[in-house]
Amino acid sequence: METKNYNPFEMAQAQFDAVADILELDEATRDLLRNPAREYQFSIPVRREDGTVKIYRGFRVQHNDALGPCKGGIRFHPQETIDTVRALSLWMTWKCALVNIPLGGGKGGVVCDPHNMTEHEQEQVCRGWVRQLSRNVGPTKDVPAPDVMTNASHMLWMLDEYETIHGGKYPGFITGKPVGLGGSQGRTEATGYGVVFTIREALKELGIRCEDTTAGVQGFGNVAQYAIQLYTQLGGCVIAVSCWDQTEQKSYCYRKKTGVSLDELLSITDRFGGIDKSKAEALDYEVLAGDQWIDQDVDILIPAALENQITGENVNRIRDRVKIIAEGANGPTTPEADKVIQKRGIFMIPDFLANAGGVTCSYFEQVQSNMNYFWSKDEVLGKLDLKMTDAFISVSDLAREKNLYMRDAAYVIAINRVARACRDRRWV
Ligand code: NAD
Repeated sequence: METKNYNPFEMAQAQFDAVADILELDEATRDLLRNPAREYQFSIPVRREDGTVKIYRGFRVQHNDALGPCKGGIRFHPQETIDTVRALSLWMTWKCALVNIPLGGGKGGVVCDPHNMTEHEQEQVCRGWVRQLSRNVGPTKDVPAPDVMTNASHMLWMLDEYETIHGGKYPGFITGKPVGLGGSQGRTEATGYGVVFTIREALKELGIRCEDTTAGVQGFGNVAQYAIQLYTQLGGCVIAVSCWDQTEQKSYCYRKKTGVSLDELLSITDRFGGIDKSKAEALDYEVLAGDQWIDQDVDILIPAALENQITGENVNRIRDRVKIIAEGANGPTTPEADKVIQKRGIFMIPDFLANAGGVTCSYFEQVQSNMNYFWSKDEVLGKLDLKMTDAFISVSDLAREKNLYMRDAAYVIAINRVARACRDRRWV
């Protein structure tokens, strides 16, 4: 695994600068877009059940809202930093612009570890976060969502605090709420299915039938499980899946050359996406080292676990047979590895296109919440397919037309849309 320490914000700015050059953006537009428009950093005092008070550090970064209210998750993480939140806010702006939804980019966080906090303490952090920001967020300003270590309950507590402060019902303030309390059908499936909608389109473009393909997947959590479900329904065959083993504190890759069974694996998987090793062995899965998902003889690789997984050190283990890499995870490929993949002509579906199904469905949740009318799961997933397919086609058309790498084409489209909106508003 890559040991280099990337500053994510510097990396996000470097990516932006490269595309700004391609687009020949003027100085003012560059200045505006390479930094967040607004940042909030604050303290959240929490009185614990034992009477002691602990102060938590909170952030919200609003990168750009030229296309609409900011949108982005809130992470709870002990190593959260303002630079991580800044970088993620930039990426949210580009992701929303790429799938053409009327939202800008934001991100938030709290430095904390929910593993070591009672439910009461987590609730107080959620309510405190909203109290600090109640005038600066909201359905028409900035719409938060869950992210790393935050879930539907956290979102509901935040909504409740916001509604208490503002004296009304504002379900469009936040997304990722429980279904039945303003949440959307289809959100659980959205990211994984979105990944496969883009793979389906890439296969069409390459003239390959899904039924004739095999895939290797890193991760077996929310994104991976639903990607495997839809890919298998379309006739594809997943032969290897890797995940983290909590007991042994290392990862393993589970392989069945005739194809893994999703239901079988789900029956031996915990809620964190960890597969039980001994039960997998009993079901005749080969148990390989965790990083071996990358050197399987397959047509498609789907990294859907963590960032920085395809690196300068392991990229050459990718077999010649691999035709498509679909980045389900955020930032799974380091810039060094990306250059090699581009040179080898592997069809790359970059993260902010491949995994944009999640934010697209969050946008659908916001729309449904604002009109207080909820769609069926089929309706949601049908609309998701249209959005993802449209976004894929616009990126691949531009990539072909201008002879650009798919990642660069996606950035060009997204940044161009945001830059144009800023110019049209006369901000620059
Ligand atoms: P998750 O927590 O549900 O699952 C993560 C999976 O990765 C688990 O199966 C875990 O065992 C596995 N894993 C962890 N470390 C590993 C390792 N070293 N080797 C192999 N497997 C390992 O997470 P998720 O929601 O599926 O998200 C996965 C990725 O997708 C993350 O990068 C996330 O930011 C990104 N993403 C998720 C969504 C979403 O809607 N869930 C949306 C956009 C992007």
